[in-house]
Amino acid sequence: MAKDILHGIAVSPGIAIGKAHFMSRQGFVPAMRQYIAGERVDAEVNRLLAAFQTVAAELEHARSLVPDDFAEHTAVLTSHLMICRDPKLIKSAAARIKTQKIRAEWALDQSLSEISKTFESIDDEYIRERIQDVHMVVDRVMARLIGEKARESEPGEKIILLAHDISPADAIELSLARIISFVTQEGGKASHTGILARGQHIPALVGVIGLDGRVPDGALLVVDAIKGFLLVEPDESELNMYTDLAVRFEQYHQEIRRQCMLPACTTDGLIMNVLANIEDETGASVIRGNGGEGVGLYRTEYGFMNRSSLPSEEELYQEYKRAVMDLTPQEVTFRTLDVGAEKLMEQQKEQYEANPALGLRGIRYCLQHQALFKRQMRAILRAGMHGAVALMFPMISSVEELDHALDILSDARRELDDAGIAYARELPVGVMIEVPSAVILSKPLADKVDFFSIGTNDLVQYLLGIDRTNPHVASLYQPLHPAVLRSLKHTVDAAHQAGIEVCVCGEMANDPYCIPVLLGLQVDALSVPPEAIPGVKDVIRHFAFNDCLELVRQLLRTSRTSRINRMVCEFVYARIPEKLAFHLPFDGVSD
Ligand code: PEP
Ligand code: MG
Repeated sequence: MAKDILHGIAVSPGIAIGKAHFMSRQGFVPAMRQYIAGERVDAEVNRLLAAFQTVAAELEHARSLVPDDFAEHTAVLTSHLMICRDPKLIKSAAARIKTQKIRAEWALDQSLSEISKTFESIDDEYIRERIQDVHMVVDRVMARLIGEKARESEPGEKIILLAHDISPADAIELSLARIISFVTQEGGKASHTGILARGQHIPALVGVIGLDGRVPDGALLVVDAIKGFLLVEPDESELNMYTDLAVRFEQYHQEIRRQCMLPACTTDGLIMNVLANIEDETGASVIRGNGGEGVGLYRTEYGFMNRSSLPSEEELYQEYKRAVMDLTPQEVTFRTLDVGAEKLMEQQKEQYEANPALGLRGIRYCLQHQALFKRQMRAILRAGMHGAVALMFPMISSVEELDHALDILSDARRELDDAGIAYARELPVGVMIEVPSAVILSKPLADKVDFFSIGTNDLVQYLLGIDRTNPHVASLYQPLHPAVLRSLKHTVDAAHQAGIEVCVCGEMANDPYCIPVLLGLQVDALSVPPEAIPGVKDVIRHFAFNDCLELVRQLLRTSRTSRINRMVCEFVYARIPEKLAFHLPFDGVSD
């Protein structure tokens, strides 16, 4: 038996066997609270000073490694160095060691609490938030005090990366070559960590409660990102079993990859378009290699994150043009900037929002920053000269919002005309349906656009009121909830009545249990992470379209999620039982 088993949410399928490597102990380690003998005081103060010095040296070293085009990281590291060298913090902790005769960890913890209280009373939101930087430095010093070294893994050693959380920005910065799996304590099913892990084809677990303390750094781990758990120090028989499962998982993937260039055709002849979701232009070769038939969702916001200045029109145009030319004759659908919530640009980080998922995100941000919005539209329109391009707006929640965005698009066209710059005149324009009000208004919206793309990640979140990133409510995030199914049906019907097509680009499109439901709802295309395309095509090939239509007819008469899940489960098991072991199960069906 393994020494410990921790449960989590599997967000990117696969099996990984390797050594645990904590990205940092940030957010994990509570201070050790102990008194010391009087004669130990000087040694304890020296221990504190040595830890601060070690961290300062580490920060100096990290700063020297920052690439030239990441100036903002240099600035952050410089401010951390200043905090680390600030004599006030060190003196305050050292004084506590001397007067209270306590361990350095406890003294430092008390000093941190005192500073935090001072920060809490500061009016200026930006300065108040800077306490996070003090916490980061103190966490690092704490880690050195408890004897944790800045462990560099051996070159070539494969590691399982453990972290409190990995933000989209962190994930972009990580050197992924040595990482064979991600495991985080935070995060839910539709978090961007999962999306990025799937994009990299790395097994990942999120929402692993109890990661702190229960997993020693360097421990041998098995990550089962199919069923959703983590084995700490597995025994020999477990190790053999998982090594075997990892091999079979690999074989299955090789088999579906061999067939991925063929169309996804149901057993009764319906061909479903399977498109790709990408975050940058480098996805093109991966899409082709996996049998993708175009890009259904280009998440353009990633090109605006992790940089101190915003990209120019020319820079955006060159990026989009490369993507379009690489993929031609396939179509690339660019989603306009969808920043906000967990995807923040540097320029947004200073603005505090109590409920960011309900805040200034997606189209709302763009309508308040029209110059930036128009800059991006012009780049997309111009890229349309080099191949098939479509454009869509995220988070539309009213007809006025769409009208407003379309007006700005007309302005962008007019400006290009006036300047004599070539652009695609017949570029299809769509909206994402991901807010309940857009579902209800899908008829009038459909009359104004050329296509719909349903963002089920957000639609489920907003329809059910479940934060897609919160592990505590992850089991309530039910994509087959009757309200979701009825919303999808309403949207698809409205679109088809208006003569336009509907794509689903949320993670539902990549779920083997949801795929027959989407087929039966008669959506026209699915858009999924490039690495998922072979698996999605394979799943589609096991169903008859007519059976899916009948399934959906029955599901729409049902008003309980549990019953719907059971019906879908039976339907899927009857058709592809043996393969399901290699796909992600959804809650309630996994056992
Ligand atoms: C969605 O909400 O389903 C979607 C595809 O957009 P994102 O995941 O980028 O919010
Ligand atoms: Mg969305």
